[in-house]
Amino acid sequence: MTNNKLTLEFSVQDTGIGIKEEFKNDIFKKFVQQDMTFTKKYEGTGLGLAISRDIAKLMNGDIWFESVENKGSTFYFTAEFLLDYAKKTPIQNLELEDKKAVINNIKKILIVEDNEINMKIVCAMLGSFGYGFECAYDGKQALGKLKENNFDLILMDIQMPELNGYDTTKIIRENEVGTEKHVFIIAMTAYSMKGDREICIEMGMDDYISKPFDANILKNIILKFISS
Ligand code: MN
Repeated sequence: MTNNKLTLEFSVQDTGIGIKEEFKNDIFKKFVQQDMTFTKKYEGTGLGLAISRDIAKLMNGDIWFESVENKGSTFYFTAEFLLDYAKKTPIQNLELEDKKAVINNIKKILIVEDNEINMKIVCAMLGSFGYGFECAYDGKQALGKLKENNFDLILMDIQMPELNGYDTTKIIRENEVGTEKHVFIIAMTAYSMKGDREICIEMGMDDYISKPFDANILKNIILKFISS
């Protein structure tokens, strides 16, 4: 414990199939699974542990494991927490006028993403950059938020229920016709495919990033469009 910060260690143990010795070095890599065959017994994209590591790193922690094949695994992670978070948030100590000024200076980003975990990661990243943000879990919610608020930039998932990212973007661009407005829209695509960028631009987006991305990639693409 230092400087009002507290590091906690968590562990989760299972009695599952364990991890093969030859696989232990690759387990945190993206799109890697122990059983990579098409007839594999366990589903998934092989992103879970890569994402977990990203979250642990964002929280100034780390992640590691011990595992014996056919016996089970124990996964550990550490994360840093701010003690007394509410009291230490400086914005709460400012006078009302100052508060307004600060809020006006904060660039506001709308995150449109239906996956709860992806949403949490992007929120954590944007929070660490100091941006203000709001969350919408599908295109319809996003259009509602856009009616109520101005945003500097939108991070837009493609596959979503109700209204997908392409159709949402189309409606946003149609609504901008005849106005001076152009809100920057960055697509967040599920897998990097050849031609992703062209499709996104054709659909009215300004750029795209493919998931999973790390904080630096996100920050760089945001800074391409809005300067802090
Ligand atoms: Mn989605």
